[in-house]
Amino acid sequence: MDVTTNRSGSDYRRQAVTAELKSYLGPQEYAAPTTLAQAAEFLADGDAIVLAGGTDLMLQTESGQIPYRKRLVNIRRISEMEGIAKYGDEIRIGALTTMTDILGDELLGVTTPVICQAADHFASSQIRNIATIGGNICNASPAGDMLPALLVLDAEVELISFDGGSLNRRRVPLNGFFTGPGATIKKPAELLSVVCIGIPEQRATARFIKSGPRPALEISIVSAAMSAFRDGHKLFHVRLAFGSVGAVPLRATATEMLLEGETLTARLIEQAVEILMAEINPIDDVRATAWYRRHLASVYLRRLLIDDD
Ligand SMILES: Cc1cc2nc3c(=O)[nH]c(=O)nc-3n(C[C@H](O)[C@H](O)[C@H](O)COP(=O)(O)OP(=O)(O)OC[C@H]3O[C@@H](n4cnc5c(N)ncnc54)[C@H](O)[C@@H]3O)c2cc1C
Repeated sequence: MDVTTNRSGSDYRRQAVTAELKSYLGPQEYAAPTTLAQAAEFLADGDAIVLAGGTDLMLQTESGQIPYRKRLVNIRRISEMEGIAKYGDEIRIGALTTMTDILGDELLGVTTPVICQAADHFASSQIRNIATIGGNICNASPAGDMLPALLVLDAEVELISFDGGSLNRRRVPLNGFFTGPGATIKKPAELLSVVCIGIPEQRATARFIKSGPRPALEISIVSAAMSAFRDGHKLFHVRLAFGSVGAVPLRATATEMLLEGETLTARLIEQAVEILMAEINPIDDVRATAWYRRHLASVYLRRLLIDDD
């Protein structure tokens, strides 16, 4: 008997079995809100799980990797979370925007083609048709393809929640959003509503590279993105980000600092590789060894800097 709670061992066992059974049986409630405010209300008690395209969530819940919560909130009917539009000097991408939407979007193709490149390397057409940008971010996989591309664009995300009877919004930079594999600073009661990107300067260029043994349907072994503008042999406003080289998608800020405003020489490139190797912390897993990931990251950095295919 636990004297502090007055509960016996069998009480605890019953509670554990009930929790396991509930998770096994799936959610007890289903909600399909049509507005952001309704969705935030359904999430307010923190005992709900969001369903967007379901391409990550269904596999994770059905395999038992993550447990269901009490309520499943299907957000796909919320039209406020759809669409790509320019507002002043920024582009706002609704969290429900799919990879297919991104690939076909003229505004993104002209202003931020690096996002379209990432969408083009993403899974298969079938998955691209339902996988959302919000899901890719909230799933927080170190291998998420959109993430390095968004990081080099200094993207921010808007999180909404229901607080004291009203809708609360906070905007946070994507750099710092990820705290570990599958983990972010987003609270369980928060919904990611929109991704915001400042329109890059016209002279800025950006590029995304991803590796995998097959060209399609492949989770990256390493992915890399860079944004900068070149003035002669010098790089300015350098942003570098890598996927699958550590616990979170990584902005390589020390490497960026070394390169900023400097003349690109063979020696500088090798120094940059050296610094990058100290910034990344890849692991061995079924897809590749840590050694191979380091090798690929160094090759990709050289390619991005030389701007070579
Ligand atoms: C066959 C296959 C191939 C794949 N290939 C790739 C690939 O090449 N590259 C890649 O990056 N990924 C790949 N994935 C993973 C997956 O498709 C992406 O991560 C996708 O973007 C997830 O989006 P979704 O809308 O399906 O999210 P869901 O599965 O619905 O949700 C994912 C997680 O995010 C949460 N969530 C979703 N939207 C929100 C929101 N707006 N606010 C708060 N929480 C939210 C959910 O609760 C869940 O925890 C692949 C998956 C499969 C099955």
